[in-house]
Amino acid sequence: MIYAIPKKPFPAAPRQMHATNRAYRFIAREETAALPFLPLISIRRHKWGVLTYTEFCKLEDLTISQVLRINPDGFSIYDGENYTIIYNDRVQPGRILFTLTHEIGHIECNHFIEFEQTILGRNGLSKDQYAVLDAEADCFARNVTAPLPIAKLVQHYGPKAAMSLFGITKTAWSLRLFWLKRDADNLMPMLLNAVSFKLRDYIDEMDSFEGAMPDWEE
Ligand SMILES: [Zn+2]
Repeated sequence: MIYAIPKKPFPAAPRQMHATNRAYRFIAREETAALPFLPLISIRRHKWGVLTYTEFCKLEDLTISQVLRINPDGFSIYDGENYTIIYNDRVQPGRILFTLTHEIGHIECNHFIEFEQTILGRNGLSKDQYAVLDAEADCFARNVTAPLPIAKLVQHYGPKAAMSLFGITKTAWSLRLFWLKRDADNLMPMLLNAVSFKLRDYIDEMDSFEGAMPDWEE
């Protein structure tokens, strides 16, 4: 979730293709591509700020319930120079991982550049407009946390294997599967190749399971 005032015409619908390719460009540019994805390491490497709800409450003299009213999971602030991601540290790790990656998605999809922010203000964007940006950040997050080349292979080993490999919740894995084909259709082959190469150790490991080579196409 972000707080923003539009600077240019707002997209009528989530730009799934834009968000998908941003996700793979992000993976391709990251130093490492270990699974599960570790957003806090990435956030620190990019020199973005990060605060837990506990820290944010102390800093801003707010109660937890006041911050939870902003968003139950997390939000980000951009002051024109630096980004700060604020996240709920009182929920399960899989949910935190997805929230942090979702917030990285807002940054990487240029939501703060395209749309001016108002810190902790609600004026500017309608509920529907927030939903558009959040859908793009969700698209980014599901592709970064569970990249297509690996998700396509691991789906044949069941949800537990997938949740353990990617460190995500069952809900996040269900959404990953729901969007699998559409995200694959939106992904540029060049980026798929770059990310497959980066994740080749995981692909090789799964390929080596005797007689269990899954079908790459749905
Ligand atoms: Zn969001």
